[in-house]
Amino acid sequence: MKQILVELKDRPELNIQAEEIIKTWKSGKYKQVLFHIYSGMEEEKFTAYAAKRLQELFPEADIAGTMSAGEIMEGHLIKRGILIGALFFESTNVEVFRYDNIKGNETSVGRKIREKLDSIPDIKAAELLLPGTEFDTKELFDEIDECDKSIRIFGGYSGGHTMNSPVHYVFDASGIMYDSMLVTTFAGRDFHIDIDKVIGWEPLGVPFRVTKADGHRLMELDNRPASEIYEKFLEIDRKLNNNAKEGYTFPLLAEYKGEEWLRSAIHIEEDGSLNMHGSVMAGMDIQLSYGNPATIVKQVNERLERVREFKPQAILIYSCIVRKAFWEKYVDLELKPFDQLCTTTGFYTWGEVIRDAESGEIVEHNVTQLSIAMREGAPSDEELPVVHVDDSVLKGPAAQMRRLTSLVYTTMEELHKAQNDLRVLNEKLRLMAERDALTGLYNRGKTEEIIYNLLRKSASNETPLSLLMIDIDYFKSVNDEYGHQTGDIVLKETAAILDDVASGGSEGRSDNEGHDEHVTSDGKSASVGSEKQDSYAEETQKGYAGRWGGEEFFVILPDTESETAISVAETLRKRVEAHVFPDVGHLTISLGVITVKECVNEKDMFLKVDKALYDAKEGGRNRIVKVEI
Ligand code: GH3
Ligand code: MG
Ligand code: MG
Repeated sequence: MKQILVELKDRPELNIQAEEIIKTWKSGKYKQVLFHIYSGMEEEKFTAYAAKRLQELFPEADIAGTMSAGEIMEGHLIKRGILIGALFFESTNVEVFRYDNIKGNETSVGRKIREKLDSIPDIKAAELLLPGTEFDTKELFDEIDECDKSIRIFGGYSGGHTMNSPVHYVFDASGIMYDSMLVTTFAGRDFHIDIDKVIGWEPLGVPFRVTKADGHRLMELDNRPASEIYEKFLEIDRKLNNNAKEGYTFPLLAEYKGEEWLRSAIHIEEDGSLNMHGSVMAGMDIQLSYGNPATIVKQVNERLERVREFKPQAILIYSCIVRKAFWEKYVDLELKPFDQLCTTTGFYTWGEVIRDAESGEIVEHNVTQLSIAMREGAPSDEELPVVHVDDSVLKGPAAQMRRLTSLVYTTMEELHKAQNDLRVLNEKLRLMAERDALTGLYNRGKTEEIIYNLLRKSASNETPLSLLMIDIDYFKSVNDEYGHQTGDIVLKETAAILDDVASGGSEGRSDNEGHDEHVTSDGKSASVGSEKQDSYAEETQKGYAGRWGGEEFFVILPDTESETAISVAETLRKRVEAHVFPDVGHLTISLGVITVKECVNEKDMFLKVDKALYDAKEGGRNRIVKVEI
């Protein structure tokens, strides 16, 4: 396999410059020749003539031509020329198929392509040269995706040198086509291909969620007109003609199925929507992005190493017009080293496509550099030289660009870190504002808030809400006998038991064997059975524990009937009674229990449960008193 490149500057030179191609073809060494023609000429008739003339000279050849936003000749950008890339194959079967009238027939065209690809024996790869993206690319690719998974697919969209060139075409010897695509197939046991992409654009600024999108139209980000992202951050006025051009080196970056992809806007519409290169889906998180030279260089170097190991005989680069705009005069930096490995040609596109090897999906990209390495037969024994991007220009003449991007990304990183620290701090503050410092339970303010909220909810849902007011018995004497510190430990350990039981902790539900008699506020005894305890255990509704002040606590049980509440109270009472407090040994608690089912006077309710607790104390402590409201 061999690749020869010829640049046509004007018509009469064609015969002269084709000499090397003719010589190679006449050598008889090669079975087939494919001509790629990348045309940056605005004059369509000239392009058409070149293809026609080439076909006359080589009737056996296949021709795939595309309008180009820049032509790559031996790893170097040439502008507005016509470039012929002649690929000679020894054993590979190469064929170019043409599909017309795509618009409106995306599914049937896609199906025809899939059937064609699946019908070719030993097919290894297919190249798609597409006109503009004015058709439904998703419908088209969804169909092609169904072809055999082993077929590697790559390609690009045609387009002119500037973002405002409205014409897109592909062509062959029969002429220029505006609504057709060319599919080139590569088949043969000895044909090998290695395709990969490099992006190197990194997110900038805050993320947005796509809240409304339809195909290539991005309507809303975070429920606001999508244009605001360009208006606010890049000061691009949507009323400007050709407005997207101003911001097209700042594409939107998204992650889709674990892969990064970028979308450039073609136009910012008057209604605030964005017309994108390629489809966008609601639910995606996107960010503005910009090229980071350091990242690009690193990624291209990694790619170069893999291409070197592949030992290619020809390389194609299909790269985005946005990269050309980004690098400006340094654009060859990411092209040239490929040509040091092997003759490299290709073109600047209006969108790139590559099939994901794992999912089999053809993914549309923007701002991406595709490198396609080809070879026939086993890799040669000869080692290729190790090549790198020559980034000396980024240290020299383009140092300002590198410094500026470094400044932006480092600032972004620092901001993200600060933002994260702030988030952690805010969470801490929020917890501090609602938690009691000693016990970690909800503090009085938060406990009141929870109770008031649940009271309202319970009144509107007509569901029961139970409250347990708890006080440690003879706690003062703990302080008096063992000191305040030991008292604090008792408070903490009691709180832990309350929290465990309130939140439905496993231990909190299992120790209700045998049951005591309890005195209700009306003097009747209330008996609590273990059966009812189990019914609480089955409930998924969690409760809350709060410190009311001193050694008084509340346990709040939403959606809990009186009987269940009493059984929880009993569990609590027994757990505390059984607990061995350091130094102090055994202690007890008294509890007041109230269950509310409808709208109540809150003050009245607090007085009543407080009175129940008082009655429990009066009744001899270590007991539960239930009160009705
Ligand atoms: P009763 O059985 O009637 O409840 O008797 P009691 O001794 O528990 O009653 P009282 O309400 O008089 O005692 C509460 C004590 O709790 C008084 C106070 O010193 C102590 N106390 C309040 N807050 C704290 C605290 O944060 N740490 C410690 N160690 N003691 C506290
Ligand atoms: Mg007490
Ligand atoms: Mg007290």
